[in-house]
Amino acid sequence: MYKSEYLNKIMNEVKLKYAEQKEFINAVEEFLDSMEFIVEEDKDIERYGILERLVVPERVFQFRVPWVDDNGKVQVNTGYRIQFNSAIGPYKGGMRFHPSVNLSILKFLAFEQTFKNSLTGLPMGGGKGGADFDPRGKSDGEIMRFCQSFMAELYHFLGPDTDVPAGDLGVGAREVGYMYGMYKKLKHENTGTFTGKGMSFGGSKVRPEATGYGLLYFVDEMLATYKNENFVGKKVIISGLGKVAKYAAVKAKELGAVVVAMSDTTGWISNPEGLNVDFIASLDDKNGKCTKQYLDKYPNTFHGSNPHEIWKVPCDIALPCATQNEINLDDAKQLVKNGCYMVAEGANMPTELEAVHYLEANGVIFAPGKASNAGGVAVSGLEMCQNAMHLSWTYEEVDQKLKDIMKNIFKMSYETASKYGNPQNLSLGANIAGFLKVYDAMKAQGIV
Ligand code: GLU
Repeated sequence: MYKSEYLNKIMNEVKLKYAEQKEFINAVEEFLDSMEFIVEEDKDIERYGILERLVVPERVFQFRVPWVDDNGKVQVNTGYRIQFNSAIGPYKGGMRFHPSVNLSILKFLAFEQTFKNSLTGLPMGGGKGGADFDPRGKSDGEIMRFCQSFMAELYHFLGPDTDVPAGDLGVGAREVGYMYGMYKKLKHENTGTFTGKGMSFGGSKVRPEATGYGLLYFVDEMLATYKNENFVGKKVIISGLGKVAKYAAVKAKELGAVVVAMSDTTGWISNPEGLNVDFIASLDDKNGKCTKQYLDKYPNTFHGSNPHEIWKVPCDIALPCATQNEINLDDAKQLVKNGCYMVAEGANMPTELEAVHYLEANGVIFAPGKASNAGGVAVSGLEMCQNAMHLSWTYEEVDQKLKDIMKNIFKMSYETASKYGNPQNLSLGANIAGFLKVYDAMKAQGIV
């Protein structure tokens, strides 16, 4: 229950209309918590129906994706693209290929993306898409045929100034390459309507590293501002062994931290003296699960098969970088008990709402993904910019811009949180700061 009648009305409608969309309901609820601070003081939000419109995607595509597997058998998946909000720029957001993909998960991701993209300061609206297709265990040919079929349907609705997809879980450089190849063929244009492309056809330097590096740049600002400290000697745990986690580990080490534990879906590994991050960065999960490959080389490493147990490893800073809902209330209690004082999300919504509340109530400084993992989409925005200008910036130039953007996102979130009386509440700061730009644009553009 909110104090504001307006917010109660919005939340009740969302819960009623989309009762089965749990992840989407959670994302809206978390966001409306912050709106409590501004809806009473600015009645235009209600007068212009801003929140009613914000919680409904502008457009949703759902389509059949038929393809033929290596045994000649016809397979069918469901594809989606959510064009959530275009108030401040073309729809922008990744594609997720994972068996768990459904409308609720993609709507939650696209909703969050709207505010994340706003925080980057670049002109990008919010979108997300994907399919309930599992790329794991598929041959290259199967992946290519799937991506081509997916794009044969979706290409109509994309464009460099309309909707620009990218990668997410299960979609990396290979999948982006196959999708972009088909898009280009069908559309007869080559303007870079995808980000995370290969370096030989318009990709940006630092894009692969951007989410992980950006997360570390963000936490560096947190340490400096709240603790007057830096990463040197800090014990860090990082869940996930995907691209985000690996590059977060590489940057953590570079900044002087000790990465004491990491995990994947089959379990966790830990070494209080620090894991071998260079070796981890070199692992390819095409060769099997990374924790297993690590244990094959370093059999004496502490380990376990339940990924949740990673949160029992004592640390100063925890960086959940795997997927949504990986830190629940019990995990949060473990972290607090062991002295963790900072949690920053590298994945999208990895911390359940009640866990966030517990962490914050116990003095842990928490950074929400829409702020701390915005580095990926920020460099995507820089990729769009380079494509539009037909040029390519150096690694150092892009890395510097990424640093500046992450610094600025932290500053905006921190200053906004401080303005509303709670400087440690970065969720509040990020939600309001991200919202205000979208709100301003929606108000200016009339009821559309
Ligand atoms: N999937 C990433 C995210 O969640 C990146 C999106 C993009 O680069 O468009 O922000």
